[in-house]
Amino acid sequence: MQIIQPQNVGNQLSNILGNLNRRAFGKNKIQAAKNDGMAECVICMEEYKETDEIAELKCDQRHYFHSKCLEQWLKRKLECPLCKRQVDLAKK
Ligand SMILES: [Zn+2]
Ligand SMILES: [Zn+2]
Repeated sequence: MQIIQPQNVGNQLSNILGNLNRRAFGKNKIQAAKNDGMAECVICMEEYKETDEIAELKCDQRHYFHSKCLEQWLKRKLECPLCKRQVDLAKK
């Protein structure tokens, strides 16, 4: 398993957080999320509300989380909470 050295995480993290695809969850997304069984944030286990801000990871378009929860998560590990793939560090 790859271990990321703490001194590198700060820079990478700010790149990642700056590049996250953030948006309001929105009504349409709620229905789609329910159909996919993705209506709750796996980090805090709470259901998304229409006005919640979410952030999407690049591994899968259904891998989104509350942006606040994801920020906290990524401070601990730079991987997707769902598929465990390493979060893409590359800048766009
Ligand atoms: Zn959450
Ligand atoms: Zn993922």
